[in-house]
Amino acid sequence: MSTPENLPGWTHAYSGKVRDLFVPATAAGLGDAETVLMVASDRVSAFDHVLEPGIPGKGELLTSLSLWWFGQLEVPNHLVAGEIPAAVAGRSMLTRRLDMHPIECVVRGYLTGSGWKEYVAEGTVCGIPLPAGLQDGDRLPEPLFTPAWKAPLGEHDENISFERAVELVGRETAEALRDASLAIFARASELAEARGVILADTKFEFGADPVTGELTLADEVLTSDSSRYWDAAAYASGATPQERMASFDKQIVRDWLAANWDQQGTPPELPAEIVERTADRYRVLIRRLLD
Ligand code: ATP
Ligand code: MG
Repeated sequence: MSTPENLPGWTHAYSGKVRDLFVPATAAGLGDAETVLMVASDRVSAFDHVLEPGIPGKGELLTSLSLWWFGQLEVPNHLVAGEIPAAVAGRSMLTRRLDMHPIECVVRGYLTGSGWKEYVAEGTVCGIPLPAGLQDGDRLPEPLFTPAWKAPLGEHDENISFERAVELVGRETAEALRDASLAIFARASELAEARGVILADTKFEFGADPVTGELTLADEVLTSDSSRYWDAAAYASGATPQERMASFDKQIVRDWLAANWDQQGTPPELPAEIVERTADRYRVLIRRLLD
C-alpha cells in the first residue's frame, strides 16, 4: 500500500482504504483539529479490501468529481478555503473537521449489488419489502434510503434497518440523515440524467459541525467510488443485465475480483487491462458530467 506523504506543517492522522487524512501540525490529533486535509490516493478497494496496483490518476479524478458535485448541491458541506500543499494539489480537499455520524447513508434508485442479493434471498432491501418479479438493475418504484453501519477499518460495513440507525444516532438525526440523503440523491440523479448518465446508487457521509452542530455533507460525494453510474443509452437499449449496467465506476474491478478470487486471504493483483479499463471509464464519466 502506498505510504502517506510527508507534508511539512501537517501531521498524518489516519489512513482509510483510499484516503489519507492530515491535520495541522499544531493540532493534538484528529479529534481536536479544526481542519482536515483529505488526500485521495490512487488506491482502489473492492469488497472492503485494498487492491494492487492502484488506478493511475484516480485520486485526482475522484477529487475533481467531489469538488464539482459539492458546487452543484445546495447543502452545507465540509469544504473550507485555505492553502493546499503543492505536493498533493489536485487530489486533496481542505475540510472542516466534523463529528462524523457512524452511518453510511446509502440511497438506491436501482436494484443491484448487495441490494439485489438481499432481494433475491428475502424479497426485501435492508428489510424494506419490494414488489415481486424485479430483475437485477431494475429501477426501484422510488429511491430508498438503505443505511449501513460504518465498521471500523478492517471490518465490513453492515447493512442495517432504519430502526437500527435510530438506535445508533437517535431518531431526530436518523430522520435528518434520511431526508437529506434522499433530497441530494434526487437532485444529483436529475443532473446526471440530463448528461446521459444514470445514478443507480450512492453513499453519503455526514457529520455535525463541532461548534454549531449543523448537519454537514462530508467525505467524498457522488464519486465513482461511492456511487454506481451507468450509461443511460446502454441502459435503455441493453437486453441483458450486463449490457444495461454499462458502468462508469469500479464495477469492472468488482466483477473481475468476484470471478478470480474466493474472498479468502489476500486478493490477487489486478491485471493491467482491468486497471486501464477502469481508469478509462472514470475519465469518460468526468467528461460526461463536467464538460
Ligand atoms: P471507504 O470509504 O472505502 O469505506 P474508509 O471509510 O475506510 O474507506 P477513506 O474514505 O479512505 O476511509 O477515508 C476517509 C475518512 O475520513 C473516513 O473515515 C470518513 O468518515 C472521514 N471523514 C470524511 N470527512 C470528514 C470530515 N469532514 N471530518 C472528519 N472525518 C471525515
Ligand atoms: Mg470513505
